[in-house]
Amino acid sequence: MDNKASAAIDTAPASRGFLTRRGLTLAAVLALAVSWGFLPEFTVVVISYIGLYALVAVGLAMLTGVGGMTSFGQAAFVGMGAYATAWVGTSPTAAGWLGPLAGSAIVPWIGLALGLAVTFAFAWALGAITVKLSGHYLPLCTIAWGLGLYYLFGNMDFLGGQTGITGVPALVIGGVSLASPRALGILIWTALLASMWLLHNLLDSREGRAIRALKSGRLMAESMGVDTARHRTKLFVLAALMAALSGWLYAHMQRFVNPTPFNLNIGIEYLFMAVVGGAGHLWGAVLGAALITLLKEKLQDVLPSLLGTSGNFEVIVFGLLMLLVLQRFADGIWPALERIGQRLLRPEKAKAPSRVAELAHRQLPAKGTVLLQAKDVTKRFGGLVANNVVSMTVKAGEIHALIGPNGAGKSTFFNMISGVDDPTEGEVRLMDQPMQTRPARDFAALGLGRTFQHVRLLGTRSVVDNVALGAHLRAKRGWIASMLRLDRAEEAALQAEARKQIERCGLGAHADSPSASLALGQQRIVEIARALASQPAVLLLDEPAAGLRHLEKRALAELLSQLRAEGLGILVVEHDMEFVMNLADRITVLEFGTVIAEGKPAEVQANPKVLDAYLGGVDEPLEVAA
Ligand code: ADP
Ligand code: MG
Repeated sequence: MDNKASAAIDTAPASRGFLTRRGLTLAAVLALAVSWGFLPEFTVVVISYIGLYALVAVGLAMLTGVGGMTSFGQAAFVGMGAYATAWVGTSPTAAGWLGPLAGSAIVPWIGLALGLAVTFAFAWALGAITVKLSGHYLPLCTIAWGLGLYYLFGNMDFLGGQTGITGVPALVIGGVSLASPRALGILIWTALLASMWLLHNLLDSREGRAIRALKSGRLMAESMGVDTARHRTKLFVLAALMAALSGWLYAHMQRFVNPTPFNLNIGIEYLFMAVVGGAGHLWGAVLGAALITLLKEKLQDVLPSLLGTSGNFEVIVFGLLMLLVLQRFADGIWPALERIGQRLLRPEKAKAPSRVAELAHRQLPAKGTVLLQAKDVTKRFGGLVANNVVSMTVKAGEIHALIGPNGAGKSTFFNMISGVDDPTEGEVRLMDQPMQTRPARDFAALGLGRTFQHVRLLGTRSVVDNVALGAHLRAKRGWIASMLRLDRAEEAALQAEARKQIERCGLGAHADSPSASLALGQQRIVEIARALASQPAVLLLDEPAAGLRHLEKRALAELLSQLRAEGLGILVVEHDMEFVMNLADRITVLEFGTVIAEGKPAEVQANPKVLDAYLGGVDEPLEVAA
């Protein structure tokens, strides 16, 4: 049977179900489509609203759950989409501009274009500013503009103030009026399902891997060549556009708009939907939208008679509910359903790619070429000099080790030469280019691959997925191509490259396992495979042998020797002296941020300063040199 797939799930017994996940989805959609004509009017209206809310919640699941950016302000973007089309459809000014088109069936589509354009411009500007904020500032900022826009809607005379705009025309497509919820509901759910298909494709691509790294691995992703700030802005704009699309549909469903549905309360409800369902899962957001919509419906009936007064009490109940759900299901409800699904559904068979593209290929410089050079690099943290006039080179076809006691400044130096941090003084050159103030992704583009002392993998993603991110810069398909599945040949090549590097590093058996399920030492090796997937000219390894067993260390040493023979330049920061002494061509020793020795292993080993500084503390009492 399908051993590979079930091994990846590991707890699931051999699945007996006859439906795959995709089959189940199609069946559900088909069932909805077939029953649509027979459902009671009220049900149709509720399902249509669920579709409208789900459009916003799915965008928010991408932004918050996948991208790690919390927004309370999505309702404002819904308002933009709604008001734009309401204004275009009713205002005499707009009618004047539209001329003979005014009153025609095209008008709502012009409204859609305007809504999306305004939202795009606004979200891009807002995103460029707000997504740079970190911690609590981003959510606070979304509250600020969520409130701001809400009051703006209510105070603009041309948008009808608090009363809003009535008489929004119905949508007409090909002569068919979508005035009834039953007709418009079809368009709403088509829009929702189509967006979900596009987003699903996006997440299952090169760009999707970059997006998934935004939440917990930005520094890592930058080092793999991903422009994370740009991806965050794009994700922000994407979520805003989905909200605006929902607003457009909403306006043509209600046929009037006023500010109330776009206030902060509703923005918080959208967030509930995304989080309760399971932020980070597209279908979780749909589930959340359905649950909250139905619950709100019930609560609005029940609460006033229960409490004897009317008010927005459902918000309080939502808050309590969210606490309960998150207590029980930390990641929302969807992941729990997914586990059941894994047991009952037949695993999807991976389709063999019909075409495999070529990945970009780097010509390695001749052996002996200086690849990476640090000249008199000094780094101060306030009064502390972490690196004091440190110079070193890494040449093609050579393994250079950097050693020194704890706190000597090795990791600091590592950050200087990999673009994570800038030297206070001195110069760093990579491939003979000055690299000061340039971001880590520029280092990656020039051929620097690296690992991290504290492993930075996306733990829930498979090993292949993690390693494929390393090859990010060797492919180029963007968001739109990925959404439309035009990236398949390239994606197949990325997957193949990732598997090749995993095999090479001896982890072939774990390729499809979540990376967090591997032992820490193996995770370090995954990091090496990821770095190799970028086809680097220079490889920087921060303590690669830590946590490895004897045989694994030997395998690692063999791999590094082989890479050296292929012409890579390698810099290793390592504690294991035996490992370093047997492997390195040259060794640089740091103590208190200063280079105290440099040379071949035998020379360094015999250097009394090194014995004192590095080994002295362990074997003998420290002596002060006379
Ligand atoms: P190593 O990797 O050799 O153990 P580090 O480079 O991590 O050493 O640290 C060198 C010194 O710089 C230490 O004294 C450490 O406390 C200090 N240091 C490192 N990073 C920072 C920072 N961001 N701010 C202030 N001090 C730092
Ligand atoms: Mg360190």
